[in-house]
Amino acid sequence: METFANYINGQLVSKKTDSYLENANPATGEVYSLLPDSSSHELEEAIRAAEKIQPSWEAIGVAGRGDYLNRLADKIESNLDLLAAAESEDTGKPIALAKTLDIPRAASNFRFFAQAVSQFASESHNMDNQAINYTLRDPLGVVGCISPWNLPLYLLTWKIAPALAAGNCVIAKPSELAPKTAYLLSQLCIDIDLPKGVLNILHGRGSQIGRAITQHSKIKAISFTGGTKTGSEIAASAAPQFKKLSLELGGKNPALIFADCNFEKTVEGIIRASFTNQGQVCMCSSRLYVEQPIYQCFKEALIEKAKTLSIGDPLTDVNLGALISKSHQEKVLNYIQLAKQEGGTILCGGQRLAPVGRCEGGFFITPTIIEGLDISARVNQEEIFGPVVTIQPFTSEAEALALANGTEYGLAATIWTENLTRLHRLAKQLTCGIVWANSWMLRDLRTPLGGMKNSGIGREGGWEALRFFTEPKNICIPY
Ligand code: NDP
Repeated sequence: METFANYINGQLVSKKTDSYLENANPATGEVYSLLPDSSSHELEEAIRAAEKIQPSWEAIGVAGRGDYLNRLADKIESNLDLLAAAESEDTGKPIALAKTLDIPRAASNFRFFAQAVSQFASESHNMDNQAINYTLRDPLGVVGCISPWNLPLYLLTWKIAPALAAGNCVIAKPSELAPKTAYLLSQLCIDIDLPKGVLNILHGRGSQIGRAITQHSKIKAISFTGGTKTGSEIAASAAPQFKKLSLELGGKNPALIFADCNFEKTVEGIIRASFTNQGQVCMCSSRLYVEQPIYQCFKEALIEKAKTLSIGDPLTDVNLGALISKSHQEKVLNYIQLAKQEGGTILCGGQRLAPVGRCEGGFFITPTIIEGLDISARVNQEEIFGPVVTIQPFTSEAEALALANGTEYGLAATIWTENLTRLHRLAKQLTCGIVWANSWMLRDLRTPLGGMKNSGIGREGGWEALRFFTEPKNICIPY
């Protein structure tokens, strides 16, 4: 049994008591590791270390900090196989996905912000002949980064990298369901001699160490990615201290498919958008709206394609692996049952799968397409976060738009059409933070990323992230 340790003040620290949490491999259902169930005691140690080092971390400047971040990126790249295997083992995702998406992106996050911060200029405002104003953007001090299990190292580093680049020191808490790559990252930090206390990684439960981080008065900002309910709790607990908050929350993302789309490319794109990572990407499409003239043939092509997707042992060449946990598998299966009660028809999938061999105890579900549900159905309103989509025809652009905007979420949407004018018109009216045209998850790290409505507040990426992790101060000097 592997035992992970916290990373505090530059060292791997095991818990002194035997309070550890069990961590299972979702593809086999077997517990294979233990992680510290951290408490306020560890948090105090981490904050002391972070506060102590922060002024000198800030003082080494953007080039010095960028150098460390680039070295971390190098280390991640040279440990690609190890990290990808760990991510697959911890989450049940296909190892090929971890190798081509999760881990390379973790390296890019560090590289991108190492460079971005060197271009992060102060604004200056000239008041005719009266005065010059300039804006200083100083780091906040010690900040908290809390991340989920679906893209563990990818999302953890997406927060840590801009926070560190901007001169802050970080207390990070990865998900208790997928802690392994964060633990391995601690070892890489030690390998590159990252100054002690600059980054501290505390494992454990959200309801304990996560909450303690959000409530601690010395933590000046929280960057959180996770569920909407948790986001709302964090907003409530951080509010009395006026902490800065960036909340990237859930989604119920629509795909608008028009009769003039490139049919083959759209079927391929929708399959990817619906089922990548077993549908456990916040940006995944979960409501498919198809223009009436092509509804029938699009639906049939989609079902045919979904049935060809291979599911099973994530260490082999499969399209889909396991869901993150037994309870999550149950939750998704319950939504499929609910869909039937709400009057929906399961067009394909909808079942638990137990592959023979090593993975028979794993948490697999076949890709599921559901038809016949009204927009008001719970299955169309609530985030399922699994390999489940609903499909429905529409007859006019106005109807498509109303359906797309018809939930409390507002994270992402896709539009599939060759009509550029319509594309612009719709993109402008969609109430969500990101719109992809004839594509999905095409990401430029300079662009703002985040959601409207119940999908969160604030934006990450590019200057948005660097602005979040700094405090602006205007200085006005009369001529
Ligand atoms: P959760 O909200 O359950 O957890 C996210 C993180 O917050 C975990 O580290 C968790 O710890 C921690 N946490 C839980 N409760 C608290 C608390 N009270 N105070 C502080 N921290 C807490 O989300 P999941 O991990 O289940 O991730 C799935 C969700 O994330 C989905 O809703 C998905 O849409 C969303 N997501 C959003 C993205 C976006 O960019 N908008 C991107 C990716 C995912 P622990 O693991 O111990 O519970």
